[in-house]
Amino acid sequence: MIRFSVLPLAALALSACSTSTGNTPDFGMTPGIPLPPLGAVSAADPRAQAAGEEILRKGGSATDAAIAVMLALTVVEPQSSGIGGGGFLVRGEADGDVTTYDGRETAPSGATPTWFLDEKGETPPFRESVRSGLSVGVPGNIALAAKAHGEHGRLAWADIFAPAIKLAREGFQINPRMHDALGRSRLTGGHSEMAKALFYGADGEPLPVGTLVRNEELANSFEAFAAGGAEAFYTGENALAVATTVAADTPKPGAMTYDDIAGYEAKERSAVCSSYREYRICSMGPPTSGGIAVQQILGQLERFDLTALGAENAVTWHLFLEAQRLAYADRELYVADSDYVTVPVAGLLEKSYLAERSALISEDRSMTEITAGRPRGAPMALADGDEPVEHGTSHLAVVDSLGTMVSYTSTIESAFGSGLMVGGYYLNNELTDFSRSPEVDGRMVANRVEGGKRPRSSMSPTVVYDPQGRPFFVVGAAGGSTIPVTTARAIIGAIDFGLSAEESLRLPFLMAFGNRVLLEENTWLEAQAEQFRALGHEELIIRQAPIKGGALRRVGDQWETARDPRLEGYLDMP
Ligand code: GLU
Repeated sequence: MIRFSVLPLAALALSACSTSTGNTPDFGMTPGIPLPPLGAVSAADPRAQAAGEEILRKGGSATDAAIAVMLALTVVEPQSSGIGGGGFLVRGEADGDVTTYDGRETAPSGATPTWFLDEKGETPPFRESVRSGLSVGVPGNIALAAKAHGEHGRLAWADIFAPAIKLAREGFQINPRMHDALGRSRLTGGHSEMAKALFYGADGEPLPVGTLVRNEELANSFEAFAAGGAEAFYTGENALAVATTVAADTPKPGAMTYDDIAGYEAKERSAVCSSYREYRICSMGPPTSGGIAVQQILGQLERFDLTALGAENAVTWHLFLEAQRLAYADRELYVADSDYVTVPVAGLLEKSYLAERSALISEDRSMTEITAGRPRGAPMALADGDEPVEHGTSHLAVVDSLGTMVSYTSTIESAFGSGLMVGGYYLNNELTDFSRSPEVDGRMVANRVEGGKRPRSSMSPTVVYDPQGRPFFVVGAAGGSTIPVTTARAIIGAIDFGLSAEESLRLPFLMAFGNRVLLEENTWLEAQAEQFRALGHEELIIRQAPIKGGALRRVGDQWETARDPRLEGYLDMP
């Protein structure tokens, strides 16, 4: 189902019934009231989408609406993102001007490269690092929101909080996806007491689907931040509570301090842009590797005529896998926080460099060995790091009546972050996105922990302009290291195959993890497993794809809005 943002008048009458009726669960699936022409919102949860739509209808800018969605997701999708985490926001104006905001979490100033190592100098099991004060970075989303709003807000700051306050105060129903996440959450050491009291029963089981949860603590926190601005988050009572909670759970010196929180700064950074078949692609640069990876994948594929090969051809997607493998080898070696290490961003995206890398790709045989390339400006003596795949993120996209596109990925890293909660919101475990080992074979890893540094991300919020320079596509995803692949795949769907926003997200998923290749089960990819083997992809993993994209696509003067059909979300719900 494709949902256009501009609904016919008849829909107005139908849409008035968005309140909960009797015992029928209400996860916010009812379509909202029509938006002004060209306004549209995509979010992983319909209730958060409705919050963004409400702000657009009140005359808010795309930035205002994106902030409202981020806040609402803190309430209704606490497993994935929130104000206790961070994010990246890419804002592209209709005239092509693009700015980006970095609200990535920072390591406390006392953190050192051996932060995650135990007394024996070894890395403990990943889950132990997650449920610990060691994993919590200074949250960045509220600072990002305040900075972006200061420059591009149209409504008053406090008004943007209204929908989220209402959801938290009046309550929201636990939907099947959240219930599932609560059941599957296996945080070693568990959720903090405040979180347990909110979401679990006395028997320790997650509250049933349909339970109305009122998160009064969060409503109070929101009210304080709405009245006091970002300062109320980064100083005073909230900052003290965050510092105390994190420090109590940090087993070594250097724990997060009040000053670490008070000193946090969101940063405006240059967008990373390149062209793909005359479309202009703009994404976030370091500290995320996502934008560079998306654009490297596309750049390396440009010499192939994917449209002629077709969307249901194993060769098309074999080429996609090869481009991924090359991009990820570069990503491992070179990309980290550019405030701390030299990242050769321009060199990695140079057409001549990408052509050289692309020449390694063959249409009929997969590469046997992949190493990082040597782009212009590459620093010497770095080593590959380690990084797990985790799933605690949400992507949202907004377009407003001026055609300004906002692509915002917000995260707390793992499901429910560190499990620690303050003021009704979860604190992230973003610092596990650092390489927990500082060096490999005596060479330093670019993404090692350092005080004040931002861990490397995979998030890739992106905006795309068509060959005439008009806003065309807004896209991004959740899913840890799968994010750039999900994003590039959707862009290929929209550009090479002319697919709708929803179809481009619905495309079967495949990804190379070194020499192993994941093919999404129950799709035509699975049926063509033999063809992939014949192309040299011998180690196939056939399973569900742990991905969650979001997109908006312009068709004429309307915008299609879509969220990943793999979610329980309204696309696949009755
Ligand atoms: N923390 C991850 C990143 O920044 C995202 C985690 C996820 O999507 O689940 O790349």
